[in-house]
Amino acid sequence: MIAENLARIKSTIPSDVTLVAVSKTKPVPTIEEAYNAGQRIFGENKVQEMVDKYTELPKDIEWHLIGHLQTNKVKYIAPFVKLIHAVDSLKLLQEINKQAKKNNRIIDCLLQFHIADEITKFGLSFEEAQDLLSLDEFVQCENISIVGVMGMATFTDNKDQLHDEFRSLHNYFHILKSHFFKFNDAFKCISMGMSNDYQIAIEEGSTMVRVGSSIFGER
Ligand SMILES: *Cc1c(COP(=O)(O)O)cnc(C)c1O
Repeated sequence: MIAENLARIKSTIPSDVTLVAVSKTKPVPTIEEAYNAGQRIFGENKVQEMVDKYTELPKDIEWHLIGHLQTNKVKYIAPFVKLIHAVDSLKLLQEINKQAKKNNRIIDCLLQFHIADEITKFGLSFEEAQDLLSLDEFVQCENISIVGVMGMATFTDNKDQLHDEFRSLHNYFHILKSHFFKFNDAFKCISMGMSNDYQIAIEEGSTMVRVGSSIFGER
């Protein structure tokens, strides 16, 4: 069933949009089913859970940390994490930089933006992001690579609102690209869209969707 779900979802997304299979709360055998169907990119939102699954599963899996990350937990994922989606402070960037250096790596990160009208979600405003990227302390972080932006839309059925929120993230991406990353080809990722809204996100320029329940069933 998971293989069928994956095939169905892949048939609805363009080949240049990356599918992150969000496997949070799902057990290892369930992830193996997706792996055996060819999926190699998985997203988790809890550090301990991701470390446990990394240990048990094949090493050619790319692990994406998609949830809020506490600075004191960066060290556990720094040896292997492929992409950290939800970076929203200098303090966190500096810690990722420090742990990346210890592991002799450069770690890819996305800046998380607050695009929803809900107050519970994390993320930067556009002004905060511009301020952050202008800081010397940021420029000195040589072991991180900012490869794009990430956002979560409001939990709503209102399609116009979803279009507006995803479009605003796409706009942020373009302005940051021209101001801070013009000659940096790595800055190209717009991570937006989940099970309920990924099609709208793709229409608004998403390059990476994070889909969980449509692949693995309800949590
Ligand atoms: C859980 C989660 C998803 C996937 O949500 P689904 O609705 O199950 O597709 C995507 N992004 C983030 C940040 C999540 O926490």
